[in-house]
Amino acid sequence: MKLAMIGFGQAGGKVVDRFIEFDRQTRGKTVRAAIAVNTAKADLHGLEHVPPENRVLIGQTRVKGHGVGADNELGAEVAQEDIEEVQAALDGVPVHEVDAFLIVAGLGGGTGSGGAPVLAKHLKRIYSEPVYGLGIVPSSQEGGIYTLNAARSFQTFVREVDNLIVFDNDAWRSTGESVEGGYATINDEIVRRLGLLFGAGEIETGDVVAESVVDSSEIINTLAGGGVSTIGYAVDPLGDQKKGGLLSRFSKEDLDEVDETNRITSLVRKATLGRLTLPCEVQGAERALLVVAGPPNRLNRKGIERGRKWLEEQTGSMEIRGGDYPLPKENAVACVVLLSGVTNVPRIKELQQVAIEALENIEDIRSQSEANLEDLLSDSDEELSPLF
Ligand code: GDP
Repeated sequence: MKLAMIGFGQAGGKVVDRFIEFDRQTRGKTVRAAIAVNTAKADLHGLEHVPPENRVLIGQTRVKGHGVGADNELGAEVAQEDIEEVQAALDGVPVHEVDAFLIVAGLGGGTGSGGAPVLAKHLKRIYSEPVYGLGIVPSSQEGGIYTLNAARSFQTFVREVDNLIVFDNDAWRSTGESVEGGYATINDEIVRRLGLLFGAGEIETGDVVAESVVDSSEIINTLAGGGVSTIGYAVDPLGDQKKGGLLSRFSKEDLDEVDETNRITSLVRKATLGRLTLPCEVQGAERALLVVAGPPNRLNRKGIERGRKWLEEQTGSMEIRGGDYPLPKENAVACVVLLSGVTNVPRIKELQQVAIEALENIEDIRSQSEANLEDLLSDSDEELSPLF
């Protein structure tokens, strides 16, 4: 499936940058176009793979290339004011060749948090292709303003896009690594999952013809209907291939059918019950897509069908799609599970609670400061004599 990707803000830009690299390394065709938008000049300079002409600096009159800090209201205003500059970059994108847009942003900061929902609304108005979001939720250690930004941005972003895929930094925090090193590892995880998912819909005639290849309409249909999505992933290296890769050339008859089926069913379980990009209750997901990738002789049909059935039971949904992604040169079988329309998500509930409390606090702070002001004025009446 071909995407036009727009990285908004620092995190968004870095993830898109990494995605381009991944696509090149894997000879993928997912990133048809990539744009990075930022209010901070230095962040755009730091990118390595997004073409220089597709790096859009917005808000120059307001913040002079220095960024908006963690002020996501300013981020949204600047995006609104300079949307035509982003559109100018999009005008260079062959939109007739893309299946969807993907806007990537960290929701805790200022530029991406404020700007991504504004851009989503704009794209929905102009184009007929689906607009997806990838929203990165900050770790809970980052502090109040980041959580509050994320809570507010999440609510707007999810409304403006056709589907919001969420990645929770909190669930992926690792100890002992520097923040930057940690992000590099996390960004690899994000890109591997999304790369396999969207790459699956990109098998063309001439590539290996598998029995039931996932096509882009299946990805689009799973994401259609809106809401929030999460992605699970598991991989099983094929140890025997290390001896020279001969086994991949063996025909299906040479492989143990039961072993191959079991490998896939257990991969589906691991992917679904292991660490999701956004941890949540699997039960209640409205739709799901199962993609099994690897050498064609390992894409055991019975295993995939059993995995699909198992997902039906786990989610309670009848709308579970599944298929192959043949990758003849890989030495592993990998499984990606996209759960779409998830409802029982503790982290999102937590964010919503933060947003509600913050609103109440703002009321409290306002009424408190009004009361203080009144006190001050009444005090001054009594105690202070006019200076002049
Ligand atoms: P912006 O430039 O104003 O949009 O803000 P940033 O993108 O720098 O930061 C927003 C949030 O994104 C931070 O609070 C972090 O939670 C997260 N973040 C920043 N950089 C990265 C990154 O490289 N990877 C990931 N996964 N998260 C990041």
